[in-house]
Amino acid sequence: MTFLDYAPAPESTSIVDIKPSYGLFIGGKFVDASGDTFATISPSTEEHITTVGEANAADVDKAVQAARVAFDKTWSKLSGSERGKYLFRIARIIQERSRELAIAETIDNGKPIRETRDVDLPLVAAWFFYYAGWADKLEYAGLGPKPQALGVAAQIVPWNFPLLMLAWKIAPALAAGNTVVLKPAETTPLTALLFAEICQQAGLPDGVVNIITGAGATGAALVAHPGINKVAFTGSTPVGRSIAASLAGTDVRATLELGGKGANIVFDDAAIDQAIEGIVSGIFFNQGHVCCAGSRLLVQENIHDDVLHRLQRRLTTLRLGDPLDKNTDIGAVNSKAQLERISALVDAGEAEGATRWSSECVLPEKGFWFQPTVFTNVHTSHRVAQEEIFGPVLSVMTFRTPDEAIAKANNTPYGLSAGIWTEKASRMLAMANSLRAGVIWANTFNKFDPSSPFGGYQESGYGREGGRHGLAAYLAADDQKAGGR
Ligand code: NAD
Repeated sequence: MTFLDYAPAPESTSIVDIKPSYGLFIGGKFVDASGDTFATISPSTEEHITTVGEANAADVDKAVQAARVAFDKTWSKLSGSERGKYLFRIARIIQERSRELAIAETIDNGKPIRETRDVDLPLVAAWFFYYAGWADKLEYAGLGPKPQALGVAAQIVPWNFPLLMLAWKIAPALAAGNTVVLKPAETTPLTALLFAEICQQAGLPDGVVNIITGAGATGAALVAHPGINKVAFTGSTPVGRSIAASLAGTDVRATLELGGKGANIVFDDAAIDQAIEGIVSGIFFNQGHVCCAGSRLLVQENIHDDVLHRLQRRLTTLRLGDPLDKNTDIGAVNSKAQLERISALVDAGEAEGATRWSSECVLPEKGFWFQPTVFTNVHTSHRVAQEEIFGPVLSVMTFRTPDEAIAKANNTPYGLSAGIWTEKASRMLAMANSLRAGVIWANTFNKFDPSSPFGGYQESGYGREGGRHGLAAYLAADDQKAGGR
């Protein structure tokens, strides 16, 4: 049988005004970095997008000082309702410019426009609206009658949801009265720099938000700066561990949102076609570059063959290619380095004896791509069952009883997310009580809401973002002095 093919439906990029180069955003202005510059490229075409500054220790110092001055002189003097007005204004500008921001994110990150347009950008605006509403209600957050801002927050985000992770960090920090220095990931600085323009457009007081670009060394210099009061980091577990070590013995507060190896558990009484959609969005959404991805599928043994058959049939319908095409489901892997990491772990899966199946799609000649891939015959000791692949690769295992599902799901050093597919509410609740994961979805997966706290434990980190809990990470009770070194 032949299927009708889709005509290409590429999104026009004419709405996005990308400058040939960007400096660092410090004290409300773009300034040149004192050190080198580096390029950001499109992972789907390998074309040069723009050049950005690489902040060195002196630049980091300037940014922290600008944030400190803004905290002391302006931001901490404003009432909560005044701070809220700025956040509402930012949220509205994000909505107005959402098409442009979605396209810029797709160009820089490689993820499909369907996702940036329908998931990332609506959530970015929702995060700012949600925390704007909290800014004048902090005394009702259950954190004491007069909770106090911590001061200057150092914020470091990864490349998988660049603007959304920025929103998760900046919105609660500003609502709580802190000022920030944020560093985007080195492969995806573009939307953070456009966000700096939005801060100017919103008339945000100078120095309340500072954006510095650079790689690990810039992040390390920021975390080591003696003038910060709080570190909010989202990224890999090894870097999170090094940050925790560098902050040990100081009274700088830290929240760490790290890696994951989520279990998506399907019982034989589940609505299978719905579960298939949940499995697909659990691991193939955003090319699997999702910390809370359902990268381990645990299927009840008696439905294994049926689920696999339906899953593979569904995966052959996913369209991989130009992320700016509105029909694309699977975009590019974010970087060459990440593609190499995915390929190495997939090779390890085959070498250890798991059975690999990859959907037959034609990979574009330029750019970084990986086909949706499923491993069966996976043992719990295999690297593909233990290590975070952070790519479109699913490892399938089976179980017979709920206890076995719990034991296998919890057999991980991480503890970020899990999914349960069953028609029985009692089973959902019993399972949720026993799963060691910070976020548990039932009959759905990868759903986010600003009012809902998100975070993990064990090697997935500590602290919560989102909801009232997300505010607590940026506030001290009124009898506690803000930290520092
Ligand atoms: P990464 O840890 O390599 O980099 C994350 C950020 O930290 C980048 O901005 C990077 O420049 C910076 N950085 C690197 N070395 C640093 C250092 N020594 N000191 C300070 N900053 C440093 O991670 P990544 O590869 O960019 O992102 C993928 C990882 O992020 C995955 O493990 C994923 O699970 C995790 N992640 C977690 C969440 C969550 O909420 N738990 C969300 C998204 C991504």
